[in-house]
Amino acid sequence: MPHLRRTELINEVIPVDMHARFMQDRKPIRWARTRRCLTAMATLLIAGCNAEPAPTGRVLVIAVDGASTRLIAQLMDEGRLPNFSALARVGSSGVSRPELPLLSPRIWTDVVTGKLPERHGIQGWVHLSQDGTPHLYSSRDRTAHALWNILSDAGLKVGVVNWLMTHPPEVVNGIMVSDHAADGMMEDKRALAQTFADKIDGTQGEVRVDSPTGSFVSPSTFRSQVEAERSAPPFTEISNPFADLQDWPRFGFLGDFMRQVYDNDDFAASVALRIESEIQPDLLLVYLPGVDRISHFLWDAVEPIETIPEALRRPPEVVVKHARALIAYYEYVDQVIGRLVQNRSPEDLVIVMSDHGFEIDPKSDVLRGVHDSPAARDGILFMRGRGVPKGRSDLVMNMVDVAPTILAWLGMPPATDMDGVPAVFMETDTPTPIASYDTTPIEYLGEKDEAVERRIIDDLKALGYVE
Ligand SMILES: [Zn+2]
Repeated sequence: MPHLRRTELINEVIPVDMHARFMQDRKPIRWARTRRCLTAMATLLIAGCNAEPAPTGRVLVIAVDGASTRLIAQLMDEGRLPNFSALARVGSSGVSRPELPLLSPRIWTDVVTGKLPERHGIQGWVHLSQDGTPHLYSSRDRTAHALWNILSDAGLKVGVVNWLMTHPPEVVNGIMVSDHAADGMMEDKRALAQTFADKIDGTQGEVRVDSPTGSFVSPSTFRSQVEAERSAPPFTEISNPFADLQDWPRFGFLGDFMRQVYDNDDFAASVALRIESEIQPDLLLVYLPGVDRISHFLWDAVEPIETIPEALRRPPEVVVKHARALIAYYEYVDQVIGRLVQNRSPEDLVIVMSDHGFEIDPKSDVLRGVHDSPAARDGILFMRGRGVPKGRSDLVMNMVDVAPTILAWLGMPPATDMDGVPAVFMETDTPTPIASYDTTPIEYLGEKDEAVERRIIDDLKALGYVE
C-alpha cells in the first residue's frame, strides 16, 4: 500500500506502510510467573478470604468502536443483524454512556480501569512532555491497573487483543496482543495524534511513539501463532466491502485505507478466537475499530438527506453505494460477534459495546461523520449471561461501571478508588469492596531486557569501549 506523508493526512486517519514487526524480545517467563504467584497471594490476603475468586463462567467483551445505537436498531428491525438480535433476545440491550469529550483512548481505558482519565492518566491520543514534544499515549502512561492486571494478579487467565493504548504489551497471566500489532496501526495512531497535537499551543514538532519497536505479543512465545493469523482465511462469509478498489475511485487512497481497516478487524477477530481456543481465558477483551473508521467517511449516507447541507449532498447513486458499504460493515461485525460468541456457555458473560455513536459533520466535504457533541454520546450495549436481566432494552451502563461489574460477576471485589460501581441492573452479588488494586507493579514486555542492556552499555562505557 502506498506510503502517505502527513501533508496528505485527512483530518483523522491515515493509511501507511507496514511497519517493522518481528523485532526480537527475550522475555524471561519464569520470573514473571513467580511474581504473579506472590502478587496473587498478596492480593488474596489483602482482599480477605471471602474475596477468593471462584468464577462460575467466563467473560467476553467485544468493543465495537463507534457503533451507532440508531443504525443498529434500524438494521435489527430489518433482520440484518441476527447475532445482535440473538444477544438482545437471550439477554438485554441498552446504551453505554461515556463522559465527554468522546475520545476513544480515554473511554476504552475508563472501561478497563473503572476510573476516569484524572485517575487512569490516558486523556486522549497525545500528551506533551515538559519541553513541548508531543507523545502518543502508551501503556506506560496508564496510572491505574486495568482488568488484565487485576485478574492476572488474582491468578485468573486473560486474553487482550488490540485494546487501545496497550503498547508496549504488559506481562499478564495469559496473552496480550497490543494495539500496534495490526498492519499500519501504530502509524495510524501516530498520525491521528498529530492532528490533535497540532491544535495544542506550544507543541514542538512531530508526535513521538515511545517503545515503537519490540514485540506486539506478550508472551513472545505466542507470537508465531499471532503471525499465522495474518494470513488466516476470512473470518466471516461477508467479504470486504472495499475489496475492489475500482469501486472506490472517488476515495483514492482512502479506499485502500478502508480495505485495510476491514483486514485489521478480521485479524483481531482471528487472533481473539485463537486465544480463546488455546487458553480459554477467564476474560477475553477484543477491540474492533473498523466501524468507527469507516463511519468517519461514509456516515452521511445513512443520515436523512434534509440534515445534510445542500453543498455537501452527494449524488443519489453515491449515497446508495456508501450506505450499502457501511451497512455491509455492520453485517460483517455482526458475523464476527456470532463466531466469537457461538461456542460460549450460556452462563458466560458476554458484553458487546461501543464508546460513542456518530453525527453528521455539516462543515467537512471529506470527514462525513464525527463524534464531537453530546448528540453522538451514547454507545451500544448488549449483554447476556448469568446475572444479566432478560428481555430489557433500557439498560444504561456508565463506562466506569464496566470493570467493577465484571469483577463482581467473577466474584471479586470492586475497589473504592474506582469511579465506577457494579451496574445496578445486574442480578449478582457484589463482594465487599477493597481499597485499591493498584498495589502491585505492572511489568511491560521486554522491560527487564532493556534494563539489562542499559547496564551492559553503562559497563562498556565505563571501560571505554563505547562513547
Ligand atoms: Zn472516531
